[in-house]
Amino acid sequence: MPAVQYGSCSYELKQGESVLDALLRNGVAVAHACKAGSCGSCLLRAVEGELPARAQAGLKDAWRARGYFLACVCQPEGDLTVAAVGNDARIAATITALDRLTHDVLRVRLVCDAPFDFRPGQYVTLFRDNALARSYSIASLPEEGVIELHVRRIPNGSMSGWLYQEACAGTPVHLQGPSGECFYAPGREDQPLLLIGTGTGLAPLYGIVRDALKSGHRGPIHLFHGAVRPAGLYLGEELAAMAAANANLTYTPSVLEADVPGPFEVGPIDGIIARRFPKLDGWRGFVCGDPALVQMLKKKLFLSGIAVRDINADAFLPSAS
Ligand SMILES: Cc1cc2nc3c(=O)[nH]c(=O)nc-3n(C[C@H](O)[C@H](O)[C@H](O)COP(=O)(O)OP(=O)(O)OC[C@H]3O[C@@H](n4cnc5c(N)ncnc54)[C@H](O)[C@@H]3O)c2cc1C
Repeated sequence: MPAVQYGSCSYELKQGESVLDALLRNGVAVAHACKAGSCGSCLLRAVEGELPARAQAGLKDAWRARGYFLACVCQPEGDLTVAAVGNDARIAATITALDRLTHDVLRVRLVCDAPFDFRPGQYVTLFRDNALARSYSIASLPEEGVIELHVRRIPNGSMSGWLYQEACAGTPVHLQGPSGECFYAPGREDQPLLLIGTGTGLAPLYGIVRDALKSGHRGPIHLFHGAVRPAGLYLGEELAAMAAANANLTYTPSVLEADVPGPFEVGPIDGIIARRFPKLDGWRGFVCGDPALVQMLKKKLFLSGIAVRDINADAFLPSAS
């Protein structure tokens, strides 16, 4: 069986085991979350040895060239020597503000110690320390000078619990990234845009909508934000004001259940959209949030006429044990 060398120790991999699982089994503290090759939390650097192609799939060229790889999907055929990633992948940042947007959504603002290029809608991996990292979508625009994240509180959640209870303005953290392809690409300015998010799936869309408007997008932009109950909707007044100020922007909040009527639609978000836009040929779509909903909506957008290349999605995969 191949072995993985980390620091001064070498660990033999079991049949079918990933580098991440072998390190964790031997008590090495490696940050990780989705364990599906998606969130990027377990990024490591190969110093010596052959990496399977899958372990570097989707990484930036510069990271691939430096031997960076995702430990959770790395099952090497031969011995591998690995190390932590360098400063080109992770930068120091400081939390500057924490504001509650709802009872269970926290707006986290950070500034980076060094220039950090990103597109609104991409995601960063936030490191509390070397052992705890989670990915969050970027809601801010680069010119705002801050990274804004919207973090939903998860019961017993390691990162969200820490952000709610312990982190404060001035707390130092590290950021890795940016990653992901879910952002507004300039061009085709007359194309209709459809943006759908539930819960904190609004975070990337809040960045993407403002980026599209700032880039001079002329086509209609339809933003749908869904929640289970009205208390789960957030930034509603601000988005309604943005829609009032931009003739091509429509903002539609919706909830699954409500005791009294309000400024929102009631019912499943996919049904509300299908009734309003049964045909979507030639549109561009953005879908973010709960993985099952993202999967279902991607399929529905495709069946309604949006080309696969025009469907941008980010599924907020939870951590796996
Ligand atoms: C690309 C990407 C982008 C993301 N963007 C955002 C974002 O913008 N905002 C945001 O709030 N989150 C986002 N997430 C999810 C985020 O990374 C964390 O998974 C989430 O904050 C929970 O982390 P935690 O440490 O608080 O909970 P954990 O300690 O990871 O989880 C505690 C327990 O709850 C379970 N759990 C975790 N999340 C859920 C869930 N949603 N539903 C049910 N059970 C769950 C876990 O499996 C575990 O058993 C994103 C994820 C990915 C992969």
